[in-house]
Amino acid sequence: MTSRILNTGFHIEVTERYHNLIGDRWPVVIKPQPDELVSSWIHRLAIANGIAPLQLAFLLDLGGGMWSARLDLKLPIKLVDRLAMLTGLHSETILSMVVTEAAITSLMFPLRKQAGSNQSVWLQYCSFCLAGDGVPYFRRQWRQASRVSCFTHGHGLRDRCPACRTGIIAFSQTAVIPQHFCVRCDFDLRWAPRAQISRAARHLERAIEETLTVEKTNDRGTIGKLVQRVLQVPLLAGTTGAKTLTNLSTSARIRCFEQLSIQPRHWTQNDIKAAIADWRKMKLAGDGNQNIVPFPVNCLQRLECQKSPRSVLVDSDRVELFRSFWLIMQAGKRAKVRRRNTSNI
Ligand SMILES: [Zn+2]
Ligand SMILES: [Zn+2]
Repeated sequence: MTSRILNTGFHIEVTERYHNLIGDRWPVVIKPQPDELVSSWIHRLAIANGIAPLQLAFLLDLGGGMWSARLDLKLPIKLVDRLAMLTGLHSETILSMVVTEAAITSLMFPLRKQAGSNQSVWLQYCSFCLAGDGVPYFRRQWRQASRVSCFTHGHGLRDRCPACRTGIIAFSQTAVIPQHFCVRCDFDLRWAPRAQISRAARHLERAIEETLTVEKTNDRGTIGKLVQRVLQVPLLAGTTGAKTLTNLSTSARIRCFEQLSIQPRHWTQNDIKAAIADWRKMKLAGDGNQNIVPFPVNCLQRLECQKSPRSVLVDSDRVELFRSFWLIMQAGKRAKVRRRNTSNI
């Protein structure tokens, strides 16, 4: 090892390579935050240990490109073992940050290197959540195309830097800079202004999310059908042709949800019992949507039984939730009729 003394008085030494220096255990261990993506945790781990995320990719033999985004859906077991060894965390803890539910992965954004202004990028964020975090991190729910707002803050999500319109590309960061700074222009995403979204659109989003949550846990095999219907939201809203939900930017999806949620309905009931009674009337009137329409009723009944604070909704919210879900299902029925009519021409 060589050393020399500059005029400034600082001692500059050529040190050993990083992995030789740190050995089998990294000096700083970062605990996962609630609902954190594994890519977000890995970026934080790199920064905390003084390594740029892209350098870490090479250190872990993961190449470049969207290396960490890929890990959110599939984390090779060899890498899990290696990360567990380097951090001392349990393998189960690391795996819990990976999105594994097959039906839900269909709602994840595709990984594309370049996206048009109306196209999706791989990840969204809420600037208010980032601002409130002790150490800002990215949530699993922000990779899901059915999410367009933050349930905590009630604002729309964003998917690009407001200053330069680039998506989040923390995997390409070559400097030791936290992931909530835009890689291209250094804008602090915590300062991104709130994105507008209507109350009705938020109710529709909440209805979909609650229903997905309930359907994930049942064994009726109905979630696949529900996910397919959710992917058709742009078509149902009649706003963007035949594009699926996962291909659209956050602002375009907010427009879809808003469009779908304002379609005129005659809905005057003010409690959940009346809402369910109305559903029964629809069914008796020969609605014919036997497979889909029962979902909200089953969901609402299950939600009433659940004790978690997240599921405690006041009656008016439940009515809105039911109404929103009914809208999307009815819109699907109309779109089907439209398609059938078109094919008959
Ligand atoms: Zn938020
Ligand atoms: Zn930027």
